[in-house]
Amino acid sequence: RVAYVNGQYVPHSQAAVHVEDRGYQFSDGVYEVCEVWREQIVDMTAHLDRLDRSLSELQIASPMSRAALVQVMKEVISLNRVKNGLIYMQVSRGVAPRDHYFPPAGTLPSVVMTAKSVPAGKMDKVAAQGVGVITVEENRWDRVDIKTVGLLPNVLAKQKAKEAGAREAWFVDKNGLVTEGGSTNAWIILKNSTLVTRPATHGILKGITRAGVLKLAEMKGFSVEERGFSLEEAKSAQEAFLTSASGLVMPVVKINETILGDGRPGPIVQDLRKSFHEASELIKLE
Ligand code: PMP
Repeated sequence: RVAYVNGQYVPHSQAAVHVEDRGYQFSDGVYEVCEVWREQIVDMTAHLDRLDRSLSELQIASPMSRAALVQVMKEVISLNRVKNGLIYMQVSRGVAPRDHYFPPAGTLPSVVMTAKSVPAGKMDKVAAQGVGVITVEENRWDRVDIKTVGLLPNVLAKQKAKEAGAREAWFVDKNGLVTEGGSTNAWIILKNSTLVTRPATHGILKGITRAGVLKLAEMKGFSVEERGFSLEEAKSAQEAFLTSASGLVMPVVKINETILGDGRPGPIVQDLRKSFHEASELIKLE
C-alpha cells in the first residue's frame, strides 16, 4: 500500500508526520472519508466542499488547489488499485514548536491521504443482518458540524457500543433528543413511512450520505421531517438506520434493549440502501 504525505507517495508502512504536527498534538486538523464504488468517487464535490468549509471555520489555509487535491485522490486510488473502498484525507494546521497559539503565517498545512479496498459486499453482509445501537449522553463540544480529527468522545462512545455488542452509539442531548451516532447520522422511519432526521445545525455533522438520502427520498416520493426525535420515539419507530460514507444506509434493528419491529431490516431502509447510488455524484477514475 501507498500513502500520500506532504507531496510524496510513500510506502504505507513508513507514512508518518512529524511529532510536532498540530494534528497530533492538538487535534488541530480536519478530515474527510469518501467512498470509491465501482471505480468511481462518490459525491466527491460535496466532500471537498465540506473540507473547504471545515478548513475555513478553523482558519486553516487551503493546502492546494481543488484540481491538485483531486489529482492526489485519483493517484492514491490508482496506486492502491482500489475499485471499491474508502479514501481518507486529513489536513492539519502543520508542524510548529508546540504552542496553543496559531503558528507563524506561512506555516504549511500537513496533508495526508490513504486509500483502502473494502471487498464489495462486505458491508452488505452487515446490512443484511442490521445493527444494534446503544445510547450515551451527548458530551461533545457545540461545533461538531466541523469535521475535526478531535474524535475522543466518539471513540469512547463507539468502544462502549462495541463492548455492549452494538455497532454504533447514539448521542442523546440534554433535551432527550438523539443528535447523531459516533460516526454516522441517525434516522427513524415512522409507521406512515415518513423519514425523520435531525436538522443539520451545529449539533451534528452535516453528512454527505445524509444529503444523498434526502435527495433519494425526494426522488422516491417519501416525506421527510428534519427535526429532532427522542429515544422513546425511536424505540417505537417502524424502521431506523444510520448513514455514513463508509456504511452508506445501515439498518438499525435494536436500540439499547429494544428490538425494532421483527428484528430484521425493514423494506424502506433496504430499498434506500439498494438504490443509494442513484442519487449520488459519481466521478469516474480515468
Ligand atoms: N456524523 C459523524 C460524527 C461522522 O463522523 C460521520 C462520518 N464521518 C457522519 C456523521 C456521516 O457523514 P458522511 O455521510 O459524510 O460520511
